[in-house]
Amino acid sequence: MKDSIFNTMKALNGFVSPSAHEREELEYVKKEIAPFAGEENICFDKMGNMIAVLGKGKGEKVMFSAHSDTLGFVAYFIDEKGFVKVSPLGGINTQTLRGRQVRFTNGVNGLLCFESGDLNMRTAYVDIGASSKEEAEKLISLGMAASVVGEVFRMGTENDPRIVSPFLDDRIAVAIQIEAIKKLSECANELKNEVYFVFSVQEEVGIRGASTAAFGIDPVYGVAIDVTSAADTPKCDPMNMSVGAGACIKYMDGSLICSPKMTEFMNRVAEDAGIKHQTEILLHGGTDAAAIQRTRAGVYAGGISIATRYIHTPTEEVSLADCESCVELIVALCKEGFTF
Ligand SMILES: [Zn+2]
Repeated sequence: MKDSIFNTMKALNGFVSPSAHEREELEYVKKEIAPFAGEENICFDKMGNMIAVLGKGKGEKVMFSAHSDTLGFVAYFIDEKGFVKVSPLGGINTQTLRGRQVRFTNGVNGLLCFESGDLNMRTAYVDIGASSKEEAEKLISLGMAASVVGEVFRMGTENDPRIVSPFLDDRIAVAIQIEAIKKLSECANELKNEVYFVFSVQEEVGIRGASTAAFGIDPVYGVAIDVTSAADTPKCDPMNMSVGAGACIKYMDGSLICSPKMTEFMNRVAEDAGIKHQTEILLHGGTDAAAIQRTRAGVYAGGISIATRYIHTPTEEVSLADCESCVELIVALCKEGFTF
């Protein structure tokens, strides 16, 4: 499964999908899951979320959600010399971005540059190799989005291979959901719930896609699959999560306190199935789970997370073994059935 997850990440790495520009990536994901979920069980909603359902008609609804958008920028002004001013889409960490290659959704390359030493986005511009406004406008147009480009690669030992990419947040969860759909399609008759896998949009700009998807699906239970900060580097402030210590079962983050029944259920199933897991209490941040929890009259909500180093940089790092544990946990939960 590790190779399969890595290969998915390699394939996804070619897409430029900052918030609201996820469609091309999602069409690729649709082709990957259609043989397992059935083409007729996959749809896009008006917001752009892609939703696949397994076990139609089987008990109460469960919604899993992994966001398909990445951080990015949107072009909002082109000056006389052809430099492009960009505004961030999501919580960009500028410290790691000076001089980085960026790519617009139409494939045009550029360099993200800063005039100031403090890397303030207000002084940022993209050099797309144009020497006038007219030339620049032949290459891109205002409103066009871009994201940082970077390689995906493996490192580490054979026992605990790591994967690095600028887009693990949250494409690693997209890859995990793809694997879970493949596995669950083999035992579809064992499902106890109608299980929805949402590949949500616009998470990085404020969990927007998951809000409308959850309203539309109206689930009883909701689980976000997302990255969480690993606190295992030499001098970082302590938190419990580390890379390689298993699937993270979320208790809380900056956006929600998970439903106690959900965390109990996840812990019990992980224990019973012998799936490596760790407790996640994240002191900041948020995921789609917060949007799902507060939909309509409320939803039992929780999260399964992947401990990740260097989140929101071009070199995010996770353990492939952790990813495998996340897939196993999703499958085990669905087989056990959400009935609390
Ligand atoms: Zn995320």
